[in-house]
Amino acid sequence: MDISKIMIGLALAAFIAYTAFRLNALNQGGGWAAFILGTVVFGLGGFAWALVLMVFFLTSSGLSILFKKRKMAAEEKYAKGSRRDERQVLANGGLAGAAVIAHVLLPASILPWVAFSAAFAAANADTWATELGVLNRTSPRLIHTGRIVSAGTSGGVSLAGMLAAAAGSLIVAAITYFSWPLTGLAGSDRLMLSLLIVVVGFLGSIVDSLIGATIQGIYWCPVCNKETEKFPLHACGNATTLLRGKRWITNDWVNLMCTGSAAVLAIIGTLLISKIM
Ligand SMILES: [Zn+2]
Repeated sequence: MDISKIMIGLALAAFIAYTAFRLNALNQGGGWAAFILGTVVFGLGGFAWALVLMVFFLTSSGLSILFKKRKMAAEEKYAKGSRRDERQVLANGGLAGAAVIAHVLLPASILPWVAFSAAFAAANADTWATELGVLNRTSPRLIHTGRIVSAGTSGGVSLAGMLAAAAGSLIVAAITYFSWPLTGLAGSDRLMLSLLIVVVGFLGSIVDSLIGATIQGIYWCPVCNKETEKFPLHACGNATTLLRGKRWITNDWVNLMCTGSAAVLAIIGTLLISKIM
């Protein structure tokens, strides 16, 4: 372990978490979680790992700030506003943090790096699909039944949202390819594993939509006559009731399953590919 690298990582993480907090991208708890996660990724990982994290963080925060006004109407449907809290930070980045620690323990293995990138590819795919899909003029359809639902409904998908998910996954995989931190792998193998990351990142966002459409806890505000992820109270201040899904499967769990499924698929895919490499 390199103490000076950890100190630089800690300082950089503190600067970024504080800036994000001041720009209202994170609340206080989210700021602390980002600081700890950033210190692990920058301090124990290094430049390539930091780059993947920053691409996710900057593009997703950027998109939500950029389109804030235009998606105000759909925004209130989500459990939380655009200020992320500690649970949201950990749901999106916790697994990636664990992958960095796995890399420290197993420095010669490519699996932690592939799982790390896949987790952020999925988180980015999901965030891009949510931020850009909401702007779509045609209404989304529920992923498992095809029923037309209003913009912002959990489990609702559209062609524009899926294209945004693919693009979000692709940009993380591209950074993964160009900044590959581990040596001893041919360029063609790196390319194949990066393509695998594009695919599993996209699949992670599909898992997210499937869970959002089926078992995620979705609530109903009887006063506004609106579907919402908010509980126990809606944005209007009235109590919401469970409409479908399981109460304990919150949006944060759905995001964790999104990044988790991508990481697991990436590990399985890498093991299969390395058999034929
Ligand atoms: Zn209401």
